[in-house]
Amino acid sequence: MSLEVSDLQKRYKDVEALSGLSFSLAPGKALALLGPNGAGKSTAIKILTTLVRPDAGKIAWDGRDLRNDPAALRDLVGYVSQELAMDKVLTAVEFMRFTAGLLHLPWRAHRERALALIDQLGLSEAKDRRVGDYSGGMKRRLDLAAALLHNPKVLILDEPTTGLDIEARELIWRLIEQFKADGGAVILASHDFQEVQHLADYVLILEQGKVGAQGGPEALKQALGRWIVRFSSHEFMDADALAAAKAVFAEQAGYRVLDQEVRCLALACSNDADMGAVHEHVFATATRAGLPVFSLNIQHPNLEDVYRFSLRGES
Ligand code: ADP
Repeated sequence: MSLEVSDLQKRYKDVEALSGLSFSLAPGKALALLGPNGAGKSTAIKILTTLVRPDAGKIAWDGRDLRNDPAALRDLVGYVSQELAMDKVLTAVEFMRFTAGLLHLPWRAHRERALALIDQLGLSEAKDRRVGDYSGGMKRRLDLAAALLHNPKVLILDEPTTGLDIEARELIWRLIEQFKADGGAVILASHDFQEVQHLADYVLILEQGKVGAQGGPEALKQALGRWIVRFSSHEFMDADALAAAKAVFAEQAGYRVLDQEVRCLALACSNDADMGAVHEHVFATATRAGLPVFSLNIQHPNLEDVYRFSLRGES
């Protein structure tokens, strides 16, 4: 049993919003969709939540094609949007009832589940208070409760913790983890790399509607290199200083110039050397070439590096 998305395509007039999105997602796993603004993340989410029809492609669950069956697809997925569409005068219970109405779920049969979800998401004490008086974290939790009301197998979340404080963010993470542990599949659009690292089993980077890098977070990091080195010869490296440093390090075996970042040169080092040896080598190479060493930072790649360097390509 899994969600199989193959070759989804969507064009808006002259914009290719999505051109060939494919992935597969098993129960209990989470996929993170990353990409800059305009990459096609919202379009993908809108297609998966039946708000937009794709021009081509397939969405299947357990082998059954759902592309022409929006009711079945709506049944399968729960959606927590970025914009909280809540009527401020409703209480939590009234909001759940309103949601049930939208989903054509008879309230009598779903009231108990709604109350259980409110309780599970830590809102039972506030259940009769107006949503307008809720904190941002409480609103998110209520939105999550509403998305779970019809017992979806796939939960789609668009930047679920943007703007929340640390405690509220970690609580949402725990709730998402619980949904995964209970066998739910999660699709998450996020710009928060810590969140992606924490929750995602699989990362898919979109760029201009196309899939760039995709894979497990660890595999993607390893593919980039063993170490990411950031070197600068001056506090503010100008184009000449960057070009000089680039020329020196481009010739070093085991090192790849990734990109010129603002004020420093980024390199990937793929040999087995430990951090001390890499430090020594870069320091000695720069000194030998007459480059002063203003700063030298060495670390294993993180997801932000994967994102940054897979988008910009390599020079
Ligand atoms: P993201 O969510 O990654 O920021 P979107 O899916 O919103 O990206 O947008 C992908 C591309 O499709 C962008 O170029 C955007 O301008 C375009 N687009 C999105 N929705 C529409 C629409 N309703 N009409 C025309 N163009 C659209």
